[in-house]
Amino acid sequence: FPRVGCPGAADIGADCTTLIEMTSNSRVSARTSASPERRDFIREIVAADVREGRVSEVVTRFPPEPNGYLHLGHSKAIALNFGIAQEFGGRCHLRFDDTNPIKEEQEYIDSIQEDIRWLGFDWGEHLYFASDYFHQLYDWAVHLIKAGKAYVDDLSAEEIREHRGTFTEPGTNSPWRDRPIEESLDLFERMRAGEFPDGARVLRAKIDMTSPNINLRDPVLYRILHATHPRTGDEWCIYPLYDFAHGQSDAIEGVTHSLCTLEFEDHRPLYDWLIENLPVPSRPHQYEFARLNFTYTVLSKRFLGRLVSEGHVRGWDDPRMPTLSALRRRGFPPEGLRNFLDMVGLGGKGTSAAEIEMLEHEVRDVLNRRALRRFAVLRPLRLVIENYPEGQVEEVEAVNNPEDPSAGTRKAPFARELWIERDDFMEDPPSKFFRLAPGREVRLRYAYFVTCTDVVKDASGEIVELRCSYDPETRGGDAPDGRRPKATLHWLSSEHAVPAQVRIYDRLFTRPDPGADGDLYADLNPNSETVLQECLVEPALTELPVGETVQFERLGYFCPDPDSTPGGLVFNRTLGLRDTWAKLQAQAAGP
Ligand code: ATP
Ligand code: MG
Repeated sequence: FPRVGCPGAADIGADCTTLIEMTSNSRVSARTSASPERRDFIREIVAADVREGRVSEVVTRFPPEPNGYLHLGHSKAIALNFGIAQEFGGRCHLRFDDTNPIKEEQEYIDSIQEDIRWLGFDWGEHLYFASDYFHQLYDWAVHLIKAGKAYVDDLSAEEIREHRGTFTEPGTNSPWRDRPIEESLDLFERMRAGEFPDGARVLRAKIDMTSPNINLRDPVLYRILHATHPRTGDEWCIYPLYDFAHGQSDAIEGVTHSLCTLEFEDHRPLYDWLIENLPVPSRPHQYEFARLNFTYTVLSKRFLGRLVSEGHVRGWDDPRMPTLSALRRRGFPPEGLRNFLDMVGLGGKGTSAAEIEMLEHEVRDVLNRRALRRFAVLRPLRLVIENYPEGQVEEVEAVNNPEDPSAGTRKAPFARELWIERDDFMEDPPSKFFRLAPGREVRLRYAYFVTCTDVVKDASGEIVELRCSYDPETRGGDAPDGRRPKATLHWLSSEHAVPAQVRIYDRLFTRPDPGADGDLYADLNPNSETVLQECLVEPALTELPVGETVQFERLGYFCPDPDSTPGGLVFNRTLGLRDTWAKLQAQAAGP
């Protein structure tokens, strides 16, 4: 079979297990969904603030910078911020932290909104942009200068770095630190008016160059940047830095609990200093939680953007990517991700990565309950039933979802010429191979028992067709004499099967800790995608909408890709059936 990109071929067949193995997937997950009483240290703080009357309405925000697509890590921050607001009857804002016009684009603003909605959260009317506050932030910068708490510095970026000191040595004051307030005011105004080139001057807070916390050594608040902003256009040529924009935006919006990841812990004293030294309308507090990371992937917008721009993947939503839009395209149900997030909770302060198998386990758990079952053959082998009447077609009743009787049944056409999976036949089977072989009888699911009577090969010796006989007494899949074949196979009627392309994905990286040896690129999996061009699917699958994931029986979960056209179906494999996480858990639990 033609395959693009030379596959982890073993992997494709690996999921083609017997029905018995398949149904073991319905094993009940030990997870119980999140209870309202669920507590972690942040929820404890919020609950105490409410209980003791320090806040009347809980207000949180999710503050993405629109410089890329959201990834799995962001889902933790989204679920936490929106989740807490919901649980405490408050509100959660979506605020774009758009203070760096060089990297930000409308495409990202749009995708971020789509992804948050997909994950199941809604900001209602509370959509904000840090750029909405540029005037207010400017006024507050002037306020600090007038109070003698900020100054314009003429040092270059390089010189500022040299003056900053190190973790072990204090910094030294800039020669411009004590310039007159009037001079700073005048220069700041002229910075804004566009009189100076990029990098010529900055505005710095005047705090303490000897502070043990480097963030308090006169941090830069504003820089000159002659760049067009996606929202404010050319109105500004100075832009506030994150530290100056973030807490103040929180205060403007009345955010009560400003939740961010641990790398901002050392910024908290600056966050508080600014809030305390400005006439802000409310008093937000910052709390930090651990970043979410996963094995076998990299969660950094910058690096993911490089994979896109350098062509290692087809786009931000390439199903191999760890972005939310990629997971959507790949057919992950958002509920699976939410369940995973509930289960791992806030986590500790450690930076260890979550095992990707655990997320996949939660996704399988949802899909197993919900996904319709369908027949598809990825690597077809012709099977002819010699004693079945030519031209006859009968419809057998196939169950849509054994986990959900309300999903009903469908009719599948059965005829003399069928396709089965090439992997389901071996001419000379080893002892543990229970599927079809010469002289052996198997069940064709929902249809009949067939016995292989002959093998047809082409000139090169490749098997091109199996000849079989069937037992008309076994219609529906049961024999009156109670005999039971060891294997049950899926199949398609040749005449009715519809051609499709199927894309099989493997991990994007070859190791659980990509880049551990210093080179992320060296750890990219060259076989992360395998394209199977000559697959066949049952007719019912032509109607399947993009975004709906089904189970191809015995093969895994699959969904139509947006690249599908009416005459050219394309499916993504969402996940195989084999639950490696459950297996690891079972091993850990012992016999
Ligand atoms: P990246 O490093 O991928 O660019 P970022 O932190 O710069 O991520 P932002 O757009 O600034 O991305 O993030 C928005 C929010 O999501 C922030 O509050 C940030 O702390 C949070 N966040 C980002 N990455 C993670 C992660 N891996 N786990 C948990 N929260 C995250
Ligand atoms: Mg950021």
